[in-house]
Amino acid sequence: MARARLPEGLRPETLAVRTALAPSQHGENSEALFLTTAFVQPDSETSARRFANMEDFTYARTSNPTVRSFEQRLAAMEGAEAAIATSTGMSAILLLGMGLLKAGDHVVCSRSVFGSTVGLFGKEFAKFGVTTSFVSQTDLAEWRAAIQPNTRLLFAETPTNPLTEVCDIAALAEIAHAAGALLTVDNTFCSPALQRPLALGADLVMHAGTKYLDGQGRVMSGALCGASKQIVDVFGPTLRTAGMTLAPFNAWVALKGMETLYLRMKAQSEAALAVARWLEAHPAVARVYYPGLASHPQHALAMRQQSGLGGAVVSFDVKADSPEAARAAAFQVIDSTRVLSIATNLGDTKTIITHPATSSHGRLTEAQRQAAGIGQGLIRVAVGLEHVDDITDDLQRGLSQLGF
Ligand SMILES: *Cc1c(COP(=O)(O)O)cnc(C)c1O
Repeated sequence: MARARLPEGLRPETLAVRTALAPSQHGENSEALFLTTAFVQPDSETSARRFANMEDFTYARTSNPTVRSFEQRLAAMEGAEAAIATSTGMSAILLLGMGLLKAGDHVVCSRSVFGSTVGLFGKEFAKFGVTTSFVSQTDLAEWRAAIQPNTRLLFAETPTNPLTEVCDIAALAEIAHAAGALLTVDNTFCSPALQRPLALGADLVMHAGTKYLDGQGRVMSGALCGASKQIVDVFGPTLRTAGMTLAPFNAWVALKGMETLYLRMKAQSEAALAVARWLEAHPAVARVYYPGLASHPQHALAMRQQSGLGGAVVSFDVKADSPEAARAAAFQVIDSTRVLSIATNLGDTKTIITHPATSSHGRLTEAQRQAAGIGQGLIRVAVGLEHVDDITDDLQRGLSQLGF
């Protein structure tokens, strides 16, 4: 029979494999997938108590054992008291806003966060009277200056997509707490294998489990992690009412993915560093953005904050003397690949190559893109698990044609 209770003091790698609800009476070694919307109650008294206290299992919008195992495992990996799962990464931020904010509240957010996050805070929450100030990813003075008496939340993401800018989580936590606000960190890019924001002072961690937690590009999921008084008491009732619930099948796939998270993040970060070094030495490459390189502006901070690893996302600018030439060169490099996937996603075992200016950042005006540093010659590579020489060989096919 599998063990229902784990000893104290287990290491994160072990927790990632072992943390889950106790197995059923059958003693399954791999956690079961519970595809059921309702749970049969032993009697009316028990049912009434469970509904009143949201305990055990009643109806799957509120909770499901497979989803609960995903939540417990992720909480253990983040060093959080609790986690609550959502259908996508964006719905985790929707839950954050709905649970925490009301009309008249104010948010301070990095302007370099994920594009849909900017839209959710800047446009959607604004409809309900929540205002957001967008500030520099790296300039702490801008964060401080943006604080207002009604600031309830600071929201950060590190490193950012696609330029891998790193913010100082501990310093932002101090700014938030001095203002009586909470700091939430989107930890999608590093995952708990590299970075644990709660240990650095953040109050809440948000995840797009769609990326590295699943890690194989299969299903969408999201989560918030933090103290029980927030996760269980604040976000639990909001999720039960609003219904941004994670599907049990997706929870199960991500739960299995998390078992290999530490191995994957280490291997993919090491490969990404090798790719970044190779690109930095390439005559056709103008600049490489990767926190693991000594040339990265926040290299020391990133190494401190991210367990000495740079993560799996590398971006670079190809050399060109006009935006038109840069775009043509970038397209040539991307279209010359024969192994990498031309797609707009990350966190997969398959390396993905992306042109941000015409995909993730395609809806910005050219002036907004310039301000954000997303040029037409910028290429993002989300490094997977192929042999690193096959990745650089694939990039070399196009880079070698650029005439440098
Ligand atoms: C993908 C992503 C999100 C959104 O997650 P979805 O699951 O696509 O909703 C949020 N933040 C970051 C950093 C992401 O990469």
